[in-house]
Order: sequence, then structure tokens, then C-alpha cells
Amino acid sequence: MSAHIGVTGLAVMGANLARNLARNGFTVALHNRSVEKTDALLEKHGNDGDFVRTETLQELVDSLEKPRRVLIMVKAGKPVDSVIEQLEPLLEAGDIIIDAGNSHYEDTRRREAALAKKDLHFVGIGVSGGEEGALNGPSIMPGGSRESYDALGPLLEKIAAQVDGQPCCAWIGTDGAGHFVKMVHNGIEYADMQVIGEAFDLLRSGAGIEPAEQAKIFAEWNKGDLASFLIEISAEVLGHVDGKTGKPFVDVVVDAAGQKGTGRWTVISALELGSPTSGIAESVFARALSSQAEQRKLAQELLAGEEINVDVPETFVEDVRQALYASKLVSYAQGLDMLTSAAVEYGWDLKLDEIASLWRGGCIIRAELLKEITKAYAAEDKPANLLFAPAFTKAIAEVLPAWRRVVSTAVQLGIPVPVFSSSLAYYDGLRRKRLPAAVIQGQRDLFGAHTYGRVDAEGTFHTLWGEDKSEIEAVDTH
Ligand code: NDP
Repeated sequence: MSAHIGVTGLAVMGANLARNLARNGFTVALHNRSVEKTDALLEKHGNDGDFVRTETLQELVDSLEKPRRVLIMVKAGKPVDSVIEQLEPLLEAGDIIIDAGNSHYEDTRRREAALAKKDLHFVGIGVSGGEEGALNGPSIMPGGSRESYDALGPLLEKIAAQVDGQPCCAWIGTDGAGHFVKMVHNGIEYADMQVIGEAFDLLRSGAGIEPAEQAKIFAEWNKGDLASFLIEISAEVLGHVDGKTGKPFVDVVVDAAGQKGTGRWTVISALELGSPTSGIAESVFARALSSQAEQRKLAQELLAGEEINVDVPETFVEDVRQALYASKLVSYAQGLDMLTSAAVEYGWDLKLDEIASLWRGGCIIRAELLKEITKAYAAEDKPANLLFAPAFTKAIAEVLPAWRRVVSTAVQLGIPVPVFSSSLAYYDGLRRKRLPAAVIQGQRDLFGAHTYGRVDAEGTFHTLWGEDKSEIEAVDTH
């Protein structure tokens, strides 16, 4: 019996994807560098479906129907290159190598280009949903050639999460597009988590609401337009009581947030693209600051921090909810805008409605909001920025007063709200008629003859600052 697909790398993610494929009726050939993981999977879960046990990559390749589909699920980085190197001589033109790990999109672009020269398809797939998603239905973001998706898509769409009868999987675009979109998904996830943290801090430090009570508030919020996986699990985390001390769980956990790097990748890429993803950047920096334990300890002794005593308004909880909604929306708007910039840079035809749609299920940022975002980008008249879609322009206008109140209250109380406030600054920056960038252009022209444009004339100009301050038309060489 030929297998439909082979999986090499059977640690938790590979094993769960292999089981998901088998449970959906596909015959899956199994391989792992050390055979113990293959045997452990077969022993525990062999009944999930049809598996073919193999010990070598040659056996794995020989067991597959053509075109062969080999899914690599090994440690990201060099191990992926090493496995590709071993597989390549065993495969034939038209076969498909798939990397569904957390690879950087530039690596995926490089691998795809190298394998395309050998007539092999290389498909980098972003998978979100963690272990549980891999087993029961993740959100899947495949890149690579359209032709490879025709051969692979039916399998992926079957194992993906399903929302309203639709798979959370769609072809994203060529080469590294899938891994890029997954990376930005993770960036939005960072911002989404941070704004929830900021809301918690505001409610606790600003209004004295204890975690158990907040759990109820979050559960209530989860019924409205904030409904999402992250709000749901935050209610669970906030309501959890530590078994050892009887204290709220969040009071016994060290307040230093870890990170594996995809948020950082998003910010680096945003800087390279010149994309203003300030909310995502602030959320990565907030994690970095939280981890500076030594400096934080010293700062508590050394740095002044008198707070202005303001009365928290009666509407505070509702204000925070509205500010959270606005900041969350801006994070999505910034992430999607970054995708628009990347599409131009890398020549991808990214369909933002399909991307928003496949984030509706299986992944960490799944949220009610994504239904409306999908609709906004499916419209004939696609918005240049998510915030310009009529439904969101209106929604933000409604919450804007509360958003401003919350940010100013936070500033006065000394509660850091980097994403609430930077999102508001982004919003105000976008809509402001004149920005101080004109002053910066003047400075650049003075110290570096970098030239400037005029509001009342075409062309590029330079002022002779060291001479008579007259203006000349200039050719911008900088
Ligand atoms: P690990 O990242 O822990 O990698 C372990 C696997 O890689 C084992 O099968 C191991 O084989 C194999 N391996 C390591 N080095 C080599 C090598 N040089 N040659 C061949 N095989 C090698 O596994 P995970 O299942 O945790 O993750 C797999 C991928 O999925 C990673 O890219 C990870 O970042 C990503 N991931 C994605 C998540 C998501 O939500 N999307 C969540 C978690 C992970 P052996 O048993 O022989 O050591």
C-alpha cells in the first residue's frame, strides 16, 4: 500500500500532524531520525489510522505515491537543511518537500529557490494552534508554487480547523509567503496578549479589581465583540487559584514574559519594510523589559514615580473594554498593513480576506473580530487600511473617547500601557493633517543636505543653510 504522505520528525508537532492526517483517512508513512519515536507513536496511537513504519529516509520515500509528499517536522534551523540535503537525491522531479516547522521566511525563500532548480517543489507551511491544534485542526498557511498546492491542498484542508464549514487553510502565495504570514500572525498574537495584560493591570492597579473578579469580567467580555480564544483563556488564567498558597495564580507567577523569537522576527521585518507596526513592536519590547529583573529591582529604589491622584471614572471597566477593543483592532490593522507592504516587496498576491478567514479557527488569535475583517477585505472596494473599512471607522469613532480617557488615566496613575498608548498614537498619527516630519526634513536638510519636497511645488529642494539661506532646486542623491 502506497502512503499518501510521509512525515519525518515525530516529536510532539510531527506526531500530532501525522495522527491528524491518519484520523482523516490518509495513509501516513512515519520516519524519525531515531526510530524510538516512530515506535512510540505506533505503540500508543497506531489505531488512529493507517501508518507505514519506516526506518530510513530511503524507505520513507519508497513507500509514497507520486508525486511524493514528504513533510519535514524537525527542529527549525540547520536540521531542516540537513534533512532536505538527505532527501533531495532520493526524490524525483515534481515531488514535494514540505516544511511545517517554525522556519524563518527568508530560509524558506532560499530553500524554495534552490529546490526549484532541481524541479522539486518546496512548500513552507505556517501552522498555528500548538500541539492541540496540530492534532485536532490547526490554522494552516501554505506557501510554495500553486501547482504544489493543487497536490497538497486537499490533504491540508481536510486536517485544518473548520469554521462555518470552511477549512482554515488556503494557498497564501509563492515561496516564503506562508511562513511570512504565520510570522505576522505571531506578531499580532504578541500585541493581542499584551493589550489583555494592560487591561488587567489597569483594572487591578487603577480600579482595585482582584483577579477572581476580573475573571468574571473577562468571561463577560468574551460574549461581545472581544470574543476570542485569548480573552477566553485569560478568564481561565485569572480565575485560577494557586494550589499551594491559595493566592491568585497570577500573583505567584514570575512577571517576566518569555519569547521564542517570532515576535522579534516580525518587528525586524517590519523595520526592513518600513511598516509602522508600533503595537507589535511595543509588545515585544514590553516582554523584553519585563525580563530585565535586575534593572527593574534597582529602578524601584532609584527612580521617582509620583503619581497624579485621579479618580477612576465609574465607567472605567467599560472604558477599558473599549480601549482594549480599539488597541486590538489597531494591532490587526498594523499586521495586515505589513502584509500589504510585504506583498509588494516580495511579489506575493496576498488575499487578506482569505488570510483573515483562515485565522478564524485553529490558531491562537482566532476571534469574532476576524469575521468582520474577512468581510472588509472581501468587499469590492478593499480598504487601504483596515481602519478605513466603514464598519471599523464607525466602531473606532464610538470607542475613541473611552480610549483617550483610559490612556490619559494610565499615564497619570503611572501604569505603563505601551500598546494602548502607541496604538492611539498610530491612530492619531495617521489622521493628523500635518506631522512634525516637516521639522525632521528641515533638520536633515540642514545637517546633511538631504533635501525636501515643498507642499506648493513639484521637485526636490535644498536650502543653502550655511550661506544666504536661499533655496535651490536639487537632485536627491541621498
Ligand atoms: P523539536 O523542535 O523539539 O524537534 C525535535 C525533532 O527534530 C525530533 O524528531 C528530532 O529527532 C528531530 N531532529 C532534530 N535535529 C535533527 C537533525 N539534525 N536531523 C534529523 N532530525 C532532527 O520538535 P517539535 O515537534 O516541538 O517542533 C517541530 C517544529 O514545529 C519546530 O519547527 C517547532 O518550532 C515547530 N513548532 C510549532 C508549534 C506551533 O504551534 N506551530 C509549536 C511547537 C513547535 P530525534 O528524535 O532523532 O532527536
